[in-house]
Amino acid sequence: MNDMTNKPKSGEPAGDDTKLTFRRFKNGENMWTGWKDLTEKIFQADHSYKCPTYVHRTPPCQGSCPSGHEIRGWLAIARQMDKPSVPGMKWQEYAFQRMVEANPFPATMGRVCPAPCEDGCNRNEVDDFVGINAVEQYVGDWANSNTLKLPAAGTFTGKKVAVIGGGPAGLAAAYFLRRKGHAVSIFEAHDKLGGMMRYGIPGYRTPRDMLDTEIQRILDMGVDVRLNTKVGRDVTVEELEGAFDAIFWAVGAQKGRGLPVPGWEGTENCITGVEFLDAFNQGWVAGTAKKVIVVGGGDTSIDVASVARRLGHITHKAEKDIDAHNVLGFTAHDVAGDRKSVV
Ligand code: SF4
Repeated sequence: MNDMTNKPKSGEPAGDDTKLTFRRFKNGENMWTGWKDLTEKIFQADHSYKCPTYVHRTPPCQGSCPSGHEIRGWLAIARQMDKPSVPGMKWQEYAFQRMVEANPFPATMGRVCPAPCEDGCNRNEVDDFVGINAVEQYVGDWANSNTLKLPAAGTFTGKKVAVIGGGPAGLAAAYFLRRKGHAVSIFEAHDKLGGMMRYGIPGYRTPRDMLDTEIQRILDMGVDVRLNTKVGRDVTVEELEGAFDAIFWAVGAQKGRGLPVPGWEGTENCITGVEFLDAFNQGWVAGTAKKVIVVGGGDTSIDVASVARRLGHITHKAEKDIDAHNVLGFTAHDVAGDRKSVV
């Protein structure tokens, strides 16, 4: 354990096995053979029955995060163990800078990510996981209300990249490409950016002003945006290939899964959760049926159930509610009648 045992003898070169580190214990070492009572004190301390063992691997929280967040790094900042070197910089800004090395949407991800990092947290072995997701949301919100900026774009490389889709993947790609100095044009079929963060998740979970702030921060790095532009309809792949050095496809997963039962397709007012949320988030749904059945128990089905509950159903239908341009046949008039289903 003792540093002295690792020290090279006088005149000997310091090889890897003799290198001094901050670690108090070598890998696999779990017993102290020095003072007798110290074993008890160290390994059966108040809350934990053993000391942490330092190993040089990716921390389990970081390894479980799909974004590859350096969680341990920004938690150390939140704990004030790692302090900013810039005088006057707040820890929240320092933590934000660390977060956006991996992900430019801390406020959004802090709200909607199912937080697999917390499942991987070492602390589960002791009592419960660290509230990683909550720290991320707090720092993201702080950055929004203090108008923090992302790192500046890199020096222009002369390369142009077309990003197809302005959802989380497309916007994140645009952000990292701009940091490397490439010119970026985003082609988005909708009239707003955000993809599933806007059209798949209700506004009470991803508040639109928060979303707009996080998106604008990326656009401020100098990203060209073409809204209402669908590849295959408004622009061809050949045109894009001629005008850009590379194309990044970020079209997302916008199709819901139907029920695996015969007759599901074509059943009136029986739609996928993704379709329902898309229609609601585009402002096309004013009310639901009196009774709605949601099949499934994941995040999407909870969103569908809570949106349907919040909308309520329409009891007094008026003819003027009929919209000639109704979409999915899902207008207030249409849904006010019989029992319908939403999957
Ligand atoms: S909550 Fe944040 S840190 Fe955790 S897995 Fe999701 S994005 Fe990664």
